[in-house]
Amino acid sequence: MFNRLLGAFSRDIGIDLGTANTLVYVRGKGIVINEPSVVALNTKTGQILAIGNEAKKMVGRTPMHIVATRPLVDGVISDFEVTEQMLKFFIHKVHQGIFTFIPRPRVVIGIPSGCTEVERRAVEDATRTAGARQAFLIEEPMAAAIGSRLPVQDASGSMIVDIGGGTTEMAVISLGGGVVARSLRVAGDELNENIIQYARDHFNLLIGERKAEEIKIAIGSAWPLKKTLEAKLRGRDLVTGLPKEVIINDSEVREALSRSIRILVSNIKGTIEETPPELVADIMDRGIILAGGGALLRGLDRLVARETQMPVQIANDPLTCVVRGTGMVLENLDLLRDVLVDTQYK
Ligand code: ADP
Ligand code: MG
Repeated sequence: MFNRLLGAFSRDIGIDLGTANTLVYVRGKGIVINEPSVVALNTKTGQILAIGNEAKKMVGRTPMHIVATRPLVDGVISDFEVTEQMLKFFIHKVHQGIFTFIPRPRVVIGIPSGCTEVERRAVEDATRTAGARQAFLIEEPMAAAIGSRLPVQDASGSMIVDIGGGTTEMAVISLGGGVVARSLRVAGDELNENIIQYARDHFNLLIGERKAEEIKIAIGSAWPLKKTLEAKLRGRDLVTGLPKEVIINDSEVREALSRSIRILVSNIKGTIEETPPELVADIMDRGIILAGGGALLRGLDRLVARETQMPVQIANDPLTCVVRGTGMVLENLDLLRDVLVDTQYK
């Protein structure tokens, strides 16, 4: 009862603590923060210099004693203290400018599926230390499925593939729980790496991570395109050490990405193979849903559809699915309590 009263006044929030991007949803307001999960640290003093957008600008441009890190890069909390600081920063940003006597928020936060007990506890503790009154954990594929409006609580199968920066998570969900799930390290970052490697092998060109990502977004694809796309690739010639520029086209980028894409697709197939037949039939009806930034790769939906012989759909606004899912859980906490991860505070 007391909690309910507090709930009426506090700004409850949903957080998608992604490996690439952190998004925050405020109950009754919608998405208020969407920033890269990057923290700039002074390694001499351990001091945090910048978080989010500010820190991302520094990536690849820092002097030796400053590093711009992504504390969640492996999809788990690899640097607990830094992650906690980042969470604190975003939670405080939301609470800025409103009365200080507003009760501390309840927070629903997405965690990668396959998190260990220790990692879960770490996220929960970080969220509470960062100022949450109560922390509810939800597995990211579940949040993505809810955000995509899949009927996760029905006795019917839904399949979601969330392709983020550090990890791809896939799950078949029924009756409010994951029936089959897989998590792999092949995701957006790996695709950027593939482009860096390709430039090195084929053009003797050294390019940075940001450039590689830019190319992937500008002309990357998983399926042949109707019209050729080209982009300028600027970097350093590995032989002469001098700046060099070459033109790269979509088919070269597709070749660069092909190995990772094959791994992704074979894991999707593997997940379907492990799924009980009744649920496969449901997925046939509804289609496989692609979410996360990687879902935006041109033609990926088409490739997955051909390889799995299933209909495939890209979630509406795939980069915000998870946070919108946490938001929907917040707004309907009583109804959706089942889908949360069990914790001692639930
Ligand atoms: P996370 O949940 O791990 O934070 P996101 O779902 O925010 O990840 O997705 C980030 C990834 O999506 C990055 O690797 C980014 O390069 C990639 N991405 C974003 N837009 C596109 C696009 N249009 N095409 C291909 N990849 C994209
Ligand atoms: Mg994500």
